[in-house]
Amino acid sequence: MIEEKKQIVDNFGRKHTYLRISLTDRCNLRCFYCMPEEGIELMEKENIMSLEEIIKLATKFRDLGVDTIRLTGGEPLVRKNFGYLVEELAKLGVTLKITTNGIMLDKYLDLFQKIGLKKINLSLDTLNKAKSVFITKRDYFDRIMKNLEKALEMDMQVKLNIVLIKGVNDNEINDFIELTRYKNLTVKFIEFMPFKGNKWDWSKGVSEKEILDIVSEKFGNIEELKNPKHSTSNNFKVKGHAGSFAIVSTITNPFCSECNRIRLTADGKMKNCLFANSETDLLTPLRNGEEMDPIIINAIKSKKYSRDGMDVKMDPEHYEKNRSMISIGG
Ligand code: SAM
Ligand code: SF4
Repeated sequence: MIEEKKQIVDNFGRKHTYLRISLTDRCNLRCFYCMPEEGIELMEKENIMSLEEIIKLATKFRDLGVDTIRLTGGEPLVRKNFGYLVEELAKLGVTLKITTNGIMLDKYLDLFQKIGLKKINLSLDTLNKAKSVFITKRDYFDRIMKNLEKALEMDMQVKLNIVLIKGVNDNEINDFIELTRYKNLTVKFIEFMPFKGNKWDWSKGVSEKEILDIVSEKFGNIEELKNPKHSTSNNFKVKGHAGSFAIVSTITNPFCSECNRIRLTADGKMKNCLFANSETDLLTPLRNGEEMDPIIINAIKSKKYSRDGMDVKMDPEHYEKNRSMISIGG
């Protein structure tokens, strides 16, 4: 008899093949929509997965059918010995991706090229230096822009992540679209989402519809692109532009039906959803030498269909019990 391959499948039949690993809850920026004003209680060092533990868990997930791993954080590039880790993960034969604020990218682009990591999401909420300082509370704008140019010169597949907030950067939507005229990149607008301590209020958010209205008013001809399977964004292009744009409409038009994502926090907790309040500790059983497959396979069974049960609306009673985004890993 042929033994059936073990996979991570939830109660809705969704096969989970995409793992996002947070390498740290530390960051060199303080984006106000991500890091609560009062700061966060940082994880104790001994509770954070070691590099070897990350590699072991990533290997387990790979063996259970995960074919894509995104490294995130906090800021993944501030993790000590990041270079060693990414080289080891590249040996797993999965598609490796990263989400970064770009500050330290220059240090790693050659390595990324060598190991075949090409997909980089770079967070850049504004094209204005003074505003960047306001949003991030740090002054790294010039360095980030230089690293963005370098990544494009090296033919990396770059997506810019832009969290749109009314009165802050919504007046720059078309400036970002203008970037796609000659540059082969994607600008990805993200609807502002609620997490513990980020003072979310949807009146500050900008919806998918508003974005499309603003872009079509200026650029007219917008082409809808075919969304890849499991995509969490709607994808578009202004006709004739080299690059494209995307919208992550988690609030107004969530993409949960085909969700294939699992998250692993830096302290080794498996989260079935960005908005999940419940977590499964993988680090303790790993350290105790327990068999991990059944723990992972059972953990996914508690996944809710959409937004951890907030199907209709975002509920403060729910999301205030979640972690802050910086300690989840977006
Ligand atoms: N430090 C890296 C970076 O900024 O790209 C990786 C971690 S960051 C938490 C991952 C992504 O989450 C970023 O693109 C960030 O803009 C996004 N993000 C953070 N807080 C958010 C919020 N409240 N709503 C929507 N996106 C958010
Ligand atoms: Fe740091 Fe990224 Fe959060 Fe900004 S969005 S504070 S760069 S983790």
